[in-house]
Amino acid sequence: MHIALDIFSPIHQITDPLFEAKGIEVYIKRDDMIHPLISGNKWRKLKYLLQKAQDEGKTHLITFGGAYSNHLLATAAAAAKFGFRSTGIVRGEEVENDTLFMCRLHGMQLLFTDRDSYRDKPALFEKHFGNNADAFFIDEGGASAEGAQGCSELVDELTDTYTHIFCACGTGTTAAGIINGISKHQLSTRFNAIPVFKNGGFMRDEIDSYLSKPVDYDLHLDYHFGGYAKTTPDLIQFIKTFVAKTGVLIEPVYTAKMLYALYDLAAKDHFKAGDKILAIHTGGIWGLMGMKEKF
Ligand SMILES: *Cc1c(COP(=O)(O)O)cnc(C)c1O
Repeated sequence: MHIALDIFSPIHQITDPLFEAKGIEVYIKRDDMIHPLISGNKWRKLKYLLQKAQDEGKTHLITFGGAYSNHLLATAAAAAKFGFRSTGIVRGEEVENDTLFMCRLHGMQLLFTDRDSYRDKPALFEKHFGNNADAFFIDEGGASAEGAQGCSELVDELTDTYTHIFCACGTGTTAAGIINGISKHQLSTRFNAIPVFKNGGFMRDEIDSYLSKPVDYDLHLDYHFGGYAKTTPDLIQFIKTFVAKTGVLIEPVYTAKMLYALYDLAAKDHFKAGDKILAIHTGGIWGLMGMKEKF
């Protein structure tokens, strides 16, 4: 089977009195609309990995994630769609939630593993699937050169030029891919990465490891809101206001932190009048379901 989805990822303008006052234009690329579950950057990251699995005659995808992982869900749904078996190795003790329910519904087998052994993913793969010739290893979050290659195609789809692109970072694969796309098209667009972890400075090494050539970009380290999947009342209020004003659904782990950074930097005159900024909606809105109590 050919590994392809018809990419539907329109660009919508986000208007706000703040942007008008600063003389800037802000747009959002709706990668969340690519697929309801194989959402956003997760499809872009999986595309060439699934292709590679198929080329190598592998029929069983093995991947890794936390109990709320968008990547696990995307892999389960993509495996079902393209005719692979799938196993998700889940960090921590056995739990049940909406994400894992959806993974199982798509035929994914779940193996829960303690946090210590979870750290060494190649060892886990070896232990459970070492002599299984059908098994194909996909790293946590789809982190890989193939993943970056898929993400670089986002830039091929742009028909306008932007002064800035904003994107949230977990593994940095998506950021690296987009930066490679900017290089390939020789754009002067400035890339802005927002790590969603505390002490996200290490993200620069992760991103740089996938770059086709060295490029300068901005890493905004102050928008983690306490750490991975942590929130503050201020961030939750931002989400409520943003969703109600724009009709664009975002979630607290990635997209809200990235957009909060964009608004905050606009207020702090980070941009010049005339700047045209593209925010990447990397999807993941199923993640909201596990965080309802924060609202
Ligand atoms: C996984 C994910 C990211 C992080 O992408 P990386 O390539 O790992 O940096 C960003 N946004 C959303 C919504 C995600 O689900």
